[in-house]
Amino acid sequence: MKRITSLLVAIIMALLVPLSINARTGVNYGPSASAFSVETNTDAQQVKLRIYKDGLGGKPVKTVNMKRALKGGTLWQASVKGDLKGMFYTFDVKYGGKFRGECAGVWATAVGVNGKRGAIVNMAETDPQGWSADKRPSIPAKDLILYEMHHRDFSIDESGDFTHRGKFLALTEPRAIGHLKALGVNAVHILPSFDYASVDETRLDEPQYNWGYDPVNYNVPEGGYSTDPYKPEVRINEFKQMVQALHRAGIKVILDVVYNHTWDIDGSNFQRTRPDYYYRKNADGTYSNGSGCGNETASDREGMRQFMVESVKYWVDEYHIDGFRFDLMGVHDIETMNAIRAAVPQDIFIYGEGWSAGSCAYPGEKLAMKANIQQMPGIAAFSDCMRDGLRGPWDSNSKAAFLGGVKGYEESIKFGIAGAIQHPGVDYSKVNYSKAPYATEPTQMIAYVSCHDDMCLVDRLKASVKGITIDELIRLDLLAQTVVMTSQGVPFMLSGEEMLRDKKGVHNSYESPDSINHLDWTNLERYPQVMDYYKNLIAMRKAHPAFHMGSADMVRRNLDFLPTENCLVAFHINGRNVPGESWGDIYVAFNAHKRARTIEVPEGTYTVVCRNIKCDQAGLTTVKTKGGKVTIPAQSALIIHN
Ligand code: CA
Repeated sequence: MKRITSLLVAIIMALLVPLSINARTGVNYGPSASAFSVETNTDAQQVKLRIYKDGLGGKPVKTVNMKRALKGGTLWQASVKGDLKGMFYTFDVKYGGKFRGECAGVWATAVGVNGKRGAIVNMAETDPQGWSADKRPSIPAKDLILYEMHHRDFSIDESGDFTHRGKFLALTEPRAIGHLKALGVNAVHILPSFDYASVDETRLDEPQYNWGYDPVNYNVPEGGYSTDPYKPEVRINEFKQMVQALHRAGIKVILDVVYNHTWDIDGSNFQRTRPDYYYRKNADGTYSNGSGCGNETASDREGMRQFMVESVKYWVDEYHIDGFRFDLMGVHDIETMNAIRAAVPQDIFIYGEGWSAGSCAYPGEKLAMKANIQQMPGIAAFSDCMRDGLRGPWDSNSKAAFLGGVKGYEESIKFGIAGAIQHPGVDYSKVNYSKAPYATEPTQMIAYVSCHDDMCLVDRLKASVKGITIDELIRLDLLAQTVVMTSQGVPFMLSGEEMLRDKKGVHNSYESPDSINHLDWTNLERYPQVMDYYKNLIAMRKAHPAFHMGSADMVRRNLDFLPTENCLVAFHINGRNVPGESWGDIYVAFNAHKRARTIEVPEGTYTVVCRNIKCDQAGLTTVKTKGGKVTIPAQSALIIHN
């Protein structure tokens, strides 16, 4: 009897324990009843669940007092009979005699307009046709070419001729798919596409623009990018259609995730359900602001860590997301990032900004900073060394670096070429920021020269290179991307660079109008040589494993640098040692001078695949080196092989 009792206790405990640490609260819809749950702090006094007919306005059709799942526990539950599909709900939690205010809870997976109320949908009914057959394209990290884009930038301008301008659905259109395929990128990194605050979804007929780094509901697509934000299932279905169309084209979808802060504190789902639990505080009781946005979440707390892990898993499972870019990853702790890495399949690509925007109320050595990337296998960080080594320092738009013919940035370029790994040819003491290699493997470094932050490449070149002509602008633009696309790191480009986009010199365009942020698709006809070069360069990289070996040992063995000169960086790859490589000795040189320069290579005949702002992997011409010297025209890259 005693054994049976203890067995029974064990079974009951096994059933209850998962409840008490239920990772995904919110609503569990059933056609005859829906179960609701919400997690609170231990001192919560009362929780009201309200059911509404609409996502905004009106009186509740039902108000239910929720009950604690366990005496003294933090999980509150309620079951409401009937078919609630199409209805909305809120939680309201009372602490110290006061209700904190209604909210959708942290685990809403569908919401009404502006994300104020959770929505009750049957998720199975949100799948587009053929969704069960949708598969993530199989592309190893070393082969990825990332394309960072904002939905509205990409498709809002009339010149793009999109049907669904500024919407998720634009990415399902042949115009979009055709362009991405022609360019050759194989992963789109979409700027925040979860539900954010700064675009009012009730006024979508008015022009509104925001990047979306102001999260409200982490587990719901943004309503502003849907064709009807009032109908909760529409944004979910359209997001899935977008993923499906891209996957069919062999393109991965990477989500920009912003778990490091919320839009505000008092109104957030976090704060309204578990006050002060999810945010870090300073010793004096004020909120820490490592995000630079007024607050910073506490990934080191079990509940926040679990929230992040489950949220990432949810996007993988429900939306078939292929990867995640962590905004201000340096605000999160290493343990959390490793827990996320371990929780998702290996082919999910994870990278982030290895820095914070202010000081965090957590020890720096435990934060997921770039310098700590070696403690996070399978996670990559953006290389600001390479970026700023090319375009110039982040704190001044007018300062140039390598591209502007400023000497002293050569080792930063080499650092980026090697993929931020330990390489005997790099003098780390001369690298602009990282005085040591930070990556164990080259796939832990994101190679780039521009992203949504700061000026785009064209604007930066105009601002930093005195008297720049359009010819020079194009030359330097193509030179910059040749460095990026021949890096052993994972290359990344900002959408529109392939059509020589500009943002009219606006540095921080997070809420600038379309006239600043939009892509002007007529630029493709205006500067056809730019798109041509980009696509040929990308095709060359993809076809030649020498440019993306994927292993630090292979890079150290097969890549060596030629003697460095001011504003001239060159390297050699022994292609014979790279599996699958058809080229033998490959020489790559970047000349940022306004005059032609030469490098010394072994005497012989070489096929020229990139020279004087033309690129063609089939070969532009051949060159017979005289006395082992080969010329690189001004402000351009040269790639030859035998
Ligand atoms: Ca929103």
